[in-house]
Amino acid sequence: MAKPIVKREYTLTERIYLWEILKGLKLTWKHFTFNFRHSLKKGPHTVPTCWQYPWDRREIAPIFRGEHMLCLDEQGREKCIGCGMCAKACPAQCITVKRGKVPEGEEDKYAAKTYCETFEIDLLRCIFCGFCEETCPKGAIVLGQGYELADYTREACQADKKRLLNNFLKAKEEGTLKPPRKPVPKVKPPKKEGAAKKATAAKKGVEKKAAPKNKVEEG
Ligand code: SF4
Ligand code: SF4
Repeated sequence: MAKPIVKREYTLTERIYLWEILKGLKLTWKHFTFNFRHSLKKGPHTVPTCWQYPWDRREIAPIFRGEHMLCLDEQGREKCIGCGMCAKACPAQCITVKRGKVPEGEEDKYAAKTYCETFEIDLLRCIFCGFCEETCPKGAIVLGQGYELADYTREACQADKKRLLNNFLKAKEEGTLKPPRKPVPKVKPPKKEGAAKKATAAKKGVEKKAAPKNKVEEG
């Protein structure tokens, strides 16, 4: 059924539009004077309605997942052992790791006996899920706060080991390193249901066998 048309009676001020126009102008004037007053103040973020990027930047949340970094330990040694678990966990398959044995005489550079000879992340494929960070047993790979990743060539979007280590040093200098992740508590694997049933059945069997003896003794 069609809706009934309701004819509205407009007031005189509404019919001549003047009052509504003045109301609109008042609001425009209010915003203009507010922004103008703040634009005369010194310092960044003077105009709250407009952030002057790239000069004005908002604070980034510590949990933000940006460009990766390969971390060093307190003694400045590479934490990565080249195990490749991050590459296995990566859903976008954008990590390539090559493991190598630490050469003689360079033990002070690496935290373990093995290290990553090469480490590359294809940032064009990465979805910044953070699985690599969660999977790493050594806390060697961390997603930092870098978000300006656009570039002109594909090659420039391949983050190699040098770049990833530099990201760590840069973040350390800027004081934007994340606090180390809490270790995941170890959970005991649940007992298999079948094994538990077998154990109970075996126990019952022993009890049944033992029962007649008792009866004989009673009689
Ligand atoms: S953040 Fe996710 S997609 Fe990116 S490299 Fe790590 S695991 Fe792969
Ligand atoms: S970053 Fe972590 S998970 Fe990846 S290869 Fe290095 S130690 Fe293994």
